[in-house]
Amino acid sequence: MHPTAVSETAERLDSGIADLAGFRDPDRPGWTREVFSESYRASRDWTMRRMQDAGLEVSVDHAGNIVGRMAGRSSSAPAIVTGSHTDTVDGGGRFDGIVGVLGGIEAARLLRASGATLDRDLLVVDFLGEESNPFGLSCLGSRSAAGELTPGDLDRQDYRGVRLGQAYRDFGLDPDRLTDVPWARRPLHAFVELHIEQGPTLQQRGLPLGVVTAITGIERVIATFTGSADHAGTRAMDDRRDAMVAAAEAVLAVRAEGCGAPTHGVATATRVDSESRSPNVVPSLVRMQSEIRSVDSTWLSGVRGRLSQEIAAKAGEHGVDVEFDWSTDNEIVHAAQSVQDVVASSADALGIPWMPIPSGATHDAVHMASLAPMGMIFIPSKDGKSHCPEEWSETADIALGVDALVQTITTLDGR
Ligand SMILES: [Zn+2]
Repeated sequence: MHPTAVSETAERLDSGIADLAGFRDPDRPGWTREVFSESYRASRDWTMRRMQDAGLEVSVDHAGNIVGRMAGRSSSAPAIVTGSHTDTVDGGGRFDGIVGVLGGIEAARLLRASGATLDRDLLVVDFLGEESNPFGLSCLGSRSAAGELTPGDLDRQDYRGVRLGQAYRDFGLDPDRLTDVPWARRPLHAFVELHIEQGPTLQQRGLPLGVVTAITGIERVIATFTGSADHAGTRAMDDRRDAMVAAAEAVLAVRAEGCGAPTHGVATATRVDSESRSPNVVPSLVRMQSEIRSVDSTWLSGVRGRLSQEIAAKAGEHGVDVEFDWSTDNEIVHAAQSVQDVVASSADALGIPWMPIPSGATHDAVHMASLAPMGMIFIPSKDGKSHCPEEWSETADIALGVDALVQTITTLDGR
């Protein structure tokens, strides 16, 4: 590519990231732009203008996704879709999701500027509300596009008692039509999402690009420990049924499980609550919340049995009973081998070093995978930081990601 074009791309990416960062909740830390917020609403007008400036035909679907279309030669051929999200977590950063939306728009602009016309339509999508939110349901826009948003989901309430359905209505969307998304009901050729890694692997290996192999599955558990309340001053140490001690053993068991994963696996105890409020009572009721993630289905499918057994055995040593409430937050989703191959060969053709990499975070791509062969391209995150104000990716790395995306789209178009 011509050097001038490269620097223009870098400048546009830089100014776009800076402009979007200006839409933030002034009362929250970092770059906070949560779904349904005023700052988010305002930023979407900017995003639509950005798409129009790149020559895309812009619309908002019933799910609230902003869709920029670059028409191909055949409007009936299954389209190629790229995109990500522009909402952030509370106290979040400037790159998570944003890189995939701005990068997708830039890819479309570069394709147009090169004079090439694709055979297929290219859709650049800014998916509504990908991040976790007070309603406890992430990936709102991609979930709707995949037809996976249920009426029950709309009854979820935030901490103020506002229903998700009402939040949609207040945002100008009809909660009864959210899954009425015509572009997603047509056959799609492929979905490719450019995203920051959100972890340290690429930086540590000194590689500018990751070809995502799979997106992690997530198992969650709430373990409830029941012991016996006793006077903390009079009950002897060898005569206690201390639920807190059993929970502490469980925290370490969760960590040990993650450390023992054969390939990619992480396990985190995220919360411990004791019903005891008094400083002089042996705790009798303690709840521990944990999550376990992996792209290794054999390991992850066995985690419930292994951890339940280990935690129950340790609790038994302390005379404490334990009950488990397990749930699957996300199944493991594999990137399509065909799309992985195209991303890898595109990187090779451009001379960009890359590695295969699993995603430990979830993405809109999880839901898009039910509609089209899915792939993801990762670029490095400085120090692996994400979902915090320090989140950072170098413009040169983002621009390389855009180059890889352009080449990937071009190659996919011909298949
Ligand atoms: Zn994201």
